[in-house]
Amino acid sequence: MKIGVLALQGAVREHIHQIQSLGCEANEVKSLNDLSGLNGLVLPGGESTTMRRLLERHQLLNPIRSLAQLGIPMFGTCAGLILLAKEIVGDDEAHLKLMDVVIERNSFGRQADSFEVEIAVDQIGDDISAVFIRAPHIVSVGPNVEILAEFDGRIVLAKEGQYLGCSFHPELTEDTRLMHYFIEMVRDFNKSPLAKSNSI
Ligand code: GLN
Repeated sequence: MKIGVLALQGAVREHIHQIQSLGCEANEVKSLNDLSGLNGLVLPGGESTTMRRLLERHQLLNPIRSLAQLGIPMFGTCAGLILLAKEIVGDDEAHLKLMDVVIERNSFGRQADSFEVEIAVDQIGDDISAVFIRAPHIVSVGPNVEILAEFDGRIVLAKEGQYLGCSFHPELTEDTRLMHYFIEMVRDFNKSPLAKSNSI
């Protein structure tokens, strides 16, 4: 299986490393050509406003939406979750507008700009390592969204069909259980009748 990692900015290498360590091929995505043949796409953390600008400059915004329409699973971490969200508190216009969640940016305060904790994740484990760096949180979710984890009374991990999104950076730890969970989503999609070759 071939998983792409959007590689315009942010924590790319660590995702690639985790994907490869779980036995899949990992490809950096910088242009339209890099999207062909992907079975899944990871949108990494970084700075969402910069990433949005680069998505436009590299003409990737609509092609990624088309990939989503084919049912290809997508995993957004931190800024990647912000890119996936249908709505961002205080912003007139969201980015990819794919996942039915409302996001608030920089939710965990200046004092604790960055920290690592263990959180309980439904179906996966009660000691998942999570690094939060100027992290967003999910304020509210649509009817088809499953909430998989909360931290400090806030939603930090959720799944809606083909989309998985978390507030934190799972790739900055040695803990690959969340990436493994995403790869299983990709595997399930590949087995489904919906899966067709993507040719955008
Ligand atoms: N604060 C960043 C944003 O709003 C996200 C931070 C991150 O991805 N670590 O885009």
